[in-house]
Amino acid sequence: MPEGHTVHRAARDHDGDFAGQRVLVSSPQGRFPAEELVDADGRAHLERVEAYGKHLFYVFEGERVVHVHLGLFGKFFRRRTPAPASRSSTRLRLEGEAMTLELVGPTACELVSVEDMRAITARLGPDPLREDANPRRFYAYVARAKAPIGAILMDQSRICGVGNVYRAEVLHLLRVHPETPGKALPKATLRAMWRLTAGLLRRGVEEKRIVTTRGLTLAKPRERVPRHDSTHVYRRRWCRTCEGPVSTYTLRARTVHYCDACQPLEAAAE
Ligand SMILES: [Zn+2]
Repeated sequence: MPEGHTVHRAARDHDGDFAGQRVLVSSPQGRFPAEELVDADGRAHLERVEAYGKHLFYVFEGERVVHVHLGLFGKFFRRRTPAPASRSSTRLRLEGEAMTLELVGPTACELVSVEDMRAITARLGPDPLREDANPRRFYAYVARAKAPIGAILMDQSRICGVGNVYRAEVLHLLRVHPETPGKALPKATLRAMWRLTAGLLRRGVEEKRIVTTRGLTLAKPRERVPRHDSTHVYRRRWCRTCEGPVSTYTLRARTVHYCDACQPLEAAAE
């Protein structure tokens, strides 16, 4: 499952590729109703592309919107125009002046209205990658929540864009045990959690991968952090901070990685 940085990066790239153009829209697989969107020449004017959490919105002229959620298996293929013929599984193909985009295997790819788009985003928590995000909604919910913070961080209706890797790393960097009830967390920790999450996600958008080590920005541009050194606890056997063993357990069907020594549960009560 892509985390928020992947989706925001896609929005930025696709906006650069297609915004302001009359784009040739088709569905080689036939499961997207392209004919409802396009004019007689098979084209429609794309105004902008934006991301909210893990959702993408391609806003076309006339307040028509293509809503995309990649889900577990969705993938984009981005090529220079003229691109080779589409694979038959392509749900949506956008052909612009310089670039061609193909979308395969998404959970959602539907034509909706601007009102539908607003209804979808209204169900989502604030997205730290959006300038209009309001973290107070997140703080207010967590301050009352009995649920473990490890579950809240993955709940897209509370905060958007955090997946398993960012969850593990943010909690580790703040020395918070994933089972800590939301309401046990001090306000200062919540504010730090929001800022850190936003910073790490932004770094992910720039670098197109998740690296949580070596600060929020790379000292040397283009420095390639090796995969085994890109996280502190996520998918590691040994904690990068204390070199103790990394613990795992299953929380709401997803594996949580954390370090018992660096993130003791009792610390939450302090
Ligand atoms: Zn540790």
